[in-house]
Amino acid sequence: MLGRLARYLRLMGYDVSYPQASSDARLIATARTEGRVLLTRDRGISLRDGPRAGNPIVIEIASDEIMSQLAQLVGTGWVTRFLEPRCSLCNARLEPMGGWEARHLLPPFTLATQCLFLYCSSCNTVLWEGSHWKHFRESTMPAFDLARKA
Ligand SMILES: [Zn+2]
Repeated sequence: MLGRLARYLRLMGYDVSYPQASSDARLIATARTEGRVLLTRDRGISLRDGPRAGNPIVIEIASDEIMSQLAQLVGTGWVTRFLEPRCSLCNARLEPMGGWEARHLLPPFTLATQCLFLYCSSCNTVLWEGSHWKHFRESTMPAFDLARKA
């Protein structure tokens, strides 16, 4: 339900778990065990399992729209800035990779026009500034502006 938000938060550098569909009790237990904030669109979880001793912090995401979702998280203080990006697919930390090392993973045009690459050794994915996080950062800045105006 919040898969797009999870991918965005990972690219912003936040450690985000996106579990398979599961029971509310299991989601709460996992968030508690892993010390995570639980983001949900499910009002039932936030009403039933909200602030109580031992429960994880639950934030009910109010909107279906990604910029409003990010603005809400900026407004709560949980998202404050861009950190080192994580893999949007699997949440692993990314490692810098030189063009020579990336040559067998990328098309020639990309290699010829980019010089900074990040590699996910967990899922064998390469990101580069030109088409990924530079555009991504620019496209997500409105969330910070929205939160400031709210
Ligand atoms: Zn990955």
